[in-house]
Amino acid sequence: MERVKIGLVGLGTVGASFYELLTKNAQEFARRLGVAVDIPYVGVRDPSKPRHLREGTCLVAGWKKIVEDPSVPIIVELVGGIDEALALIREALSRRKHVITANKALLSAHGQELFGLASANGVELKFEAAVCGGIPIVKVLRESLMGNRVTSIMGIVNGTTNYILTRMSEDKLTFAQALAQAQEKGFAEADPTLDVGGGDAAQKIGLLASLAFGRWIDPRDILTEGIASVTEKDIEFCGASGFVFKLIAQARLMDGRPLVTVFPCLVPLDHPLAGVRNEFNAVLIDSDYLGPSVYEGRGAGGNPTASSLASDLGDLLKSILSRHVARPRAALERAEAFPAERMRSRYYFHFVTANRPGIWALVTGICAEDGINIESVHQKWEDKSKPSDLYVLVDEADEAQVRRAFGKIVSSDGIFPDSRYYRVLSGPEGGPG
Ligand code: NAP
Repeated sequence: MERVKIGLVGLGTVGASFYELLTKNAQEFARRLGVAVDIPYVGVRDPSKPRHLREGTCLVAGWKKIVEDPSVPIIVELVGGIDEALALIREALSRRKHVITANKALLSAHGQELFGLASANGVELKFEAAVCGGIPIVKVLRESLMGNRVTSIMGIVNGTTNYILTRMSEDKLTFAQALAQAQEKGFAEADPTLDVGGGDAAQKIGLLASLAFGRWIDPRDILTEGIASVTEKDIEFCGASGFVFKLIAQARLMDGRPLVTVFPCLVPLDHPLAGVRNEFNAVLIDSDYLGPSVYEGRGAGGNPTASSLASDLGDLLKSILSRHVARPRAALERAEAFPAERMRSRYYFHFVTANRPGIWALVTGICAEDGINIESVHQKWEDKSKPSDLYVLVDEADEAQVRRAFGKIVSSDGIFPDSRYYRVLSGPEGGPG
């Protein structure tokens, strides 16, 4: 049986699971592909830490020795971070080695260059594991929907925030309590900023949108809002009104231009994404011939991510065995983004207000001035001496209209700055915007 060597760099959460998968399922892998995988090296930062490696694998410090070995045609980068991983992948691609990575942060920041470099060198840069962990979403976009024009992608692509919002809505926890629980269970990092602020979801939806639309989505063009402002009161009001709060990442074509967004929004209970709970991810793709299709699974964790890495490795091995040479593809050009101010949606406002007459009139008056049609208004206070909560659901409006009206309302006397607004998700074909 033919044997192929891979160089594995990184033996942390994902690297160790992937190494274990290739060890435990080695026979299965070889039987399916007709090729055996050897892992002559594993690169780590600190080789003095105790590790369990099989005979034939040598632990090395860093990655240079691995990338310089001409007998290793595939490098698997599981280091994470930007600088080291960037240097490693540049070097490997320049040496005409295929690369598999799970590093969405790196691809989001430098993907345009790296995919171009891979193409120029006739090799592949595979990244199934970088988006939604174990869900084979890249393969769906790249292969299964090959004959379709993708019109929109909508998903819950960050497990941490989905876990937090689920616990807030099902157990009535505060944001801080739900975050602490997510950290205890290992679903959130010690520094949760990238997840909670929407940045991680933006990196993933940007990669999926670039793949689906064939143009590079610059991360700066993605409207990104996180979930830290969502309170128990928002969750309670929305639950009573037939919605559930979710952090939704979306990419759609508007007048031929991509609009890519990440924000928490109110999802109607009968929407396909409403029942996606806890740390699970799901992606709903709409395409012209298949129509809507949903893909759900575990979006992170060592084992699900290792499963996606193995899928990428299997594809590479098949093309190496068939002596397939990747054809150079044109580098992706940066997409001209559709302006987010022009997206349309229904909206939900939560105004925190002084408890005195005239507040309704102020809010409804400014909405009318800006052409915003109100669907319902609810006011709630527990103690007359304290601020009250005014919940307003409005009909479809432009983001620009809403920003203008909201700005005027919050700068009015009697309206407090912790007021906020969120968008309401419509059907898979519509969505906000
Ligand atoms: P991790 O647990 O922090 O592991 C990082 C590994 O890289 C460690 O083994 C570390 O060595 C090694 N390393 C660091 N700097 C190195 C260098 N200069 N040269 C060689 N090795 C070096 O990270 P992880 O959670 O496995 O994540 C790896 C990648 O997968 C990241 O890009 C992440 O975004 C992505 N990812 C993670 C998940 C997940 O659930 N964790 C899911 C999807 C994607 P030491 O062991 O000596 O410290």
